[in-house]
Parts: sequence; structure tokens; C-alpha cells
Amino acid sequence: MEKYIRVSIIARLVYKKLNIVKKYLLKIILRQKNYEKNMKCKICDTQTVPLEDKQLQKIYFLCPCCEYIFLDENYVVSQDRELSQYQNHNNSLENIGYVNMFENFIDFFYSEIENPKKAFDFGSGPKPVLSQLFERKGLTCSIYDKFYACEKTYQNSTYDIITSTEVFEHLGNPLETLRMLKSLLNPQGIIAIMTLFHKNSQEDFLNWWYRRDPTHIGFFTPQTFEVLANICGLEVVRHDGKRVVVLRHR
Ligand SMILES: [Zn+2]
Repeated sequence: MEKYIRVSIIARLVYKKLNIVKKYLLKIILRQKNYEKNMKCKICDTQTVPLEDKQLQKIYFLCPCCEYIFLDENYVVSQDRELSQYQNHNNSLENIGYVNMFENFIDFFYSEIENPKKAFDFGSGPKPVLSQLFERKGLTCSIYDKFYACEKTYQNSTYDIITSTEVFEHLGNPLETLRMLKSLLNPQGIIAIMTLFHKNSQEDFLNWWYRRDPTHIGFFTPQTFEVLANICGLEVVRHDGKRVVVLRHR
């Protein structure tokens, strides 16, 4: 009986070890697969350079041409996880810091457009603060949000101002989204995007807090937006070098 117990314990230990080895091998195979993918940039189709974050055990791809950095799709979190991450945010009109940030954002581009009447905020979040600020200025504002305002009521109209704040870092295909936004833009209109820019340094990137949000999967610089705008028939009007870029028809 004692012998049987000893054999059973050993068998269980061996099974556990085998499972660890199996997981380790799978990880190596997965990495190898990614490196062999010849991953092209999702924006400009240039061959990217893989960047491994050993701490978070994630792989990113860096584009040497447009400077876009994107997370390997194997590490993209589920929609449920994405939603639960957003529910941690306190983004309402009562949050003074948040409102100030949006007022500064509006000030940055508002002089670029004469007498705007219609705005559209793409990715408006749980509390549509930006649209309320536009309405205070006398504009009408449509909103859309994948989770909080998912009816696509914006589709049958065009807009003088299109905003998208803290959205582009969540997108799997920013080129497709920008093309869609451009199709809704009036001839003299502007698109204003807010997303924190990376510094185009691998070392800085690996130490960057912004990357630690698991729902942030794509990272930009002003150069990325130059390339994106060019592909979409837009041009960069101005950027602040930190987080805001303003685009219009070329
Ligand atoms: Zn690129």
C-alpha cells in the first residue's frame, strides 16, 4: 500500500513537471511563430522589428518607417476584459482634471475651423463629457462608443469636427478607422485625435507606464500620423508633440 502511495505521488509530480515543460515549449513555439511571421506594419506595410517585453512576457512589433508600435495579436485581451478595464475610469463632468484636459484639447484645435456646427465624438466612453462641452458651445454632437453608445447613428451625416480621445491606442486597425472617420468629414472639417505619443526609443517604451494598460495595443508618434494621414488623403494641421494631433483634408 505504502509503495502504491509513493508511486502515485511520483507520478503526480512527473505529470506536473511535464505540464510545465509543455507550457514552456508552447511559449517558445508561439514566439518562434511570431518571429517567423515576417510581420508587416499594419499602417504602412513595412517589415517590422519584434520587441519582446520579458517582464510582461509580451511581444510588440515596431515599424522603422512610420514608428507605429503594435502588440502581437496573441496578447490582445478579450472584450469582457477590455470593458472591465474601462469601468475603473472616473471620466465625468464632476472630475475637474478630466474636464480641464478636454477644454485644453478643444482649445488646441478650435481656431482651425470657422463657425463649426456639427461634431462627432468617436469613442465617447461611459460619460460623454466632450459632447457636453461641445453642446455648451452651441454645437450638436453625435457620439459613438463600442460599449456605451453602440448604435451607429453617426453614419448618415457629415461633421465639421470629429474627435477621438484615448481611443486610437485601443484599435487593432487604426488605418481602417481613420478612413471611416475621413468619410464623415466635411470639406473644411478637422479630425482631432488624442493618444499619448511614444518617444521612439525601445528602452523608454519598455519602461513606459502607458503600455501597462492591457487594453492599450497600438502606439503612435507624430510621424505615424503623418504616414496615416498621407495614406488616407489627409494632412497633419498641427500636433503638440505629446498627445494631440489635428488632421484635415489634403
Ligand atoms: Zn509603418
